[in-house]
Order: sequence, then C-alpha cells, then structure tokens
Amino acid sequence: MSSGRKMNNGKSNFYSNGVSEAIIKGIKGASGMRRGGIPFRYLGVKIVPKRMRILDCQCLVDRVTERITRIGAKQLSYAGRLTLIKSVLSTLHMYWARIFILPKAVISNIEAICRAFLWHGHNSNESPALVSGKTICQPKRKGGLGLKYLHLWNIALLGKYWVHTVHIKNVNWRDYEPSINTSWAWRRICHVKNQLHSWLFDENWREGMPEYTVKLGYSWLVEEGFDVAWFPWVNNRIMLPKHKFFIWLVAQNRLLTQDRLMRMQITHHNRCFLCEDAEEKFNHLFFRCSFSRQCLGLLEEWLQVCLPIHEVIDWWLTVRARSLLMKQVLAAAIAQLMYLIWNVRNRCRVESVIPLFVVLIKQVKETLQMKMRGSTVIVRSRCTEEWLSSVGLSCT
Ligand SMILES: [Zn+2]
Repeated sequence: MSSGRKMNNGKSNFYSNGVSEAIIKGIKGASGMRRGGIPFRYLGVKIVPKRMRILDCQCLVDRVTERITRIGAKQLSYAGRLTLIKSVLSTLHMYWARIFILPKAVISNIEAICRAFLWHGHNSNESPALVSGKTICQPKRKGGLGLKYLHLWNIALLGKYWVHTVHIKNVNWRDYEPSINTSWAWRRICHVKNQLHSWLFDENWREGMPEYTVKLGYSWLVEEGFDVAWFPWVNNRIMLPKHKFFIWLVAQNRLLTQDRLMRMQITHHNRCFLCEDAEEKFNHLFFRCSFSRQCLGLLEEWLQVCLPIHEVIDWWLTVRARSLLMKQVLAAAIAQLMYLIWNVRNRCRVESVIPLFVVLIKQVKETLQMKMRGSTVIVRSRCTEEWLSSVGLSCT
C-alpha cells in the first residue's frame, strides 16, 4: 500500500492511486467544490442508486400540482385548463420521462391530478369526471382530447434512445442484453426495447419508415378506436377553443341537464330554467324552448339556412352548404349559440334574469367576424363570397 492511500471506512478509493489527500483537499479548496454523496440532484432530477421510489418523484408530483393550481387557474374555462395541462405535462413530465421509466404509482398520481383539475378546477376528485380518462386520452380524430397515456409516452420517449443508439455504442443494440448484475434503472431502460420489440424488429417498418419518432412509437403502443364523423366539426379553425370544447361535450352526450341530474339523484328540480314550461332535456333546452327557438329563428334569418330542430350532430353531418368554409361558419355559429344558451341557462339558476335573444345573436356575429379575420381565411368560390357578403361577414 502506498503512503498516499487512505481507506476511510472503505469509501475513499480515490486516494488509492497514490494521489495524496492533501493534494485533493487543496484542489477542492481552490475550486470551491464540495464532496457529495448519493442520492444527489442533477439538473433538478434526483439520482438514486437503487430502485426509484414514489418518494423520490414526489417533487415532480408537487411541481405539477403547483403549476396547474396556481392563482387564477380555477377561473379558466375547460379549454383553458386543457391547454394548461398539456403545457405542464409537455415540460415537467416529459423532462423526467426522457431520463427514467417513472413508477406506475407516480404516473397514476399525476394523471389523477390532471383529470381532477380539468373537470373541477382543483386537484381533488370530489365528484365524478364528465368523460372517462380512456376517452380523453384518445386522439382528437378518434373523439378524444389528445391527452397522452403518460406511461406509454414514457416508453415511446425512451425507445428513441435505443433506435438512435444513444445508450449503446459499438454494439448491435438489437442483440444487446444487460448482464444480471446491472442496476435496476438500466434494466428498466433495457425493458423498453422488449416492450417495443415487435415493432422495432419489423422489417417493413425499417424499410418503409426509417426515422423513429416518439409520436410513431406512441402510436404503436396505444390502442386507438375509429375516426368519429363529427371530428371536422370540432376541428374548426373558425371556432374559439371554449366553443370547441363545449361542442365536444355535446358530441359525447355529457351535458348535465336537469333530467340527467334527476336520474343521478342530485336534484329534484327538473323544470327548464328558461321557460319553466317543460322538463329540461337536451333537445328541449337547445331546440324547443321558447327562448332557444327565438334565437335559432334569428340565426336562420341571418344565415339564410335551416338550422337543426333536434339532433345537432345529424344536422351538421347532413347540412347542405356551398363550400367547406360555409359549413365551418354554420358549425361555428350554432356551436357558439348553444354555448351562449347554456351559459344563460346556468346564470338563470341563480339570478332568474334572461337576456334579450337579440344580444346573443349580436355576440355570435361579432365573434364570428373577429375569428374569420384572425384566421386568415381564404374564400375560393364566388358563391361562398356572395353568401358571406349577403350575411355581412368578411375575411379582411
Ligand atoms: Zn324551456
């Protein structure tokens, strides 16, 4: 043993190469560096030598909660909350998920917090969600909100490192198997390769689509349903996000009208708040109530088209329009009117004051005009241009 070697409870093997402790101390003193230990934090992420525990990821859960429930977030509309959730997940969760496979309990916890915030504006599940977690995690084209299954996104993110051989150098990554003595964290990352095995080793994929992307890997893992016929209606650039979200709820048949609340035994009051003449059901509230009929009549007169008297989805699918743009304008107008009627109905529950229906139609016109100018819409046909001109809308 050399004179510079010092065992110090077996932890100071750095000194066994002959460099004296005095020199090390001198370097540390000059650089200002301190000797650390494990676990430690690196770029905000906790580095642990053993299996990652739920407690090790608690700061991630805390930060997600803090970001989405900060002051003012509760006042956001559903669409605003959805945007905030996507933004927080795309930064905080993705940052961690690019490094580790996160424990399932942590991912479930984050998903529960996000769902509760979306439906209730805070992070506790006091009442059931309007739409199931499985549906909201479907792509928009399949009838969902485009949120991600976080555990599958985690696998797809780490799969990228295998395909681009970030972790393994000078070895065929397809044949690589970790030794039995490797760490837990590394074995979990190697398991990602096995989870993507059937697609990564598919010859057709490699020939037809050589570039692996996280989005592609995720699409392999997620079980997707069929395209919904009403997707183009919701995916309408002339519609405001809050109107899109509302009409998505309509398409899911999830509005909590009084008849539904009665069935859930939440209320005993089933009369329409606007006319008090009939039971409040979806079709009555939006298409048969005297207030709604007057609004629809004015809208029909203005837009020179027959609007739905029931089954709004069927109407949208079959309405005859001169062009796609005209169909989008009609869809945006009826979605906004239904959103406004719903808001009036909600206000009526506490104030019993009904605004003039002319005010609602004026609001629809102004919002449509503002959105058309802001969306740089191009009119391609003369008949659409004439129709827009006759209803007093312009794209410039
Ligand atoms: Zn009514």
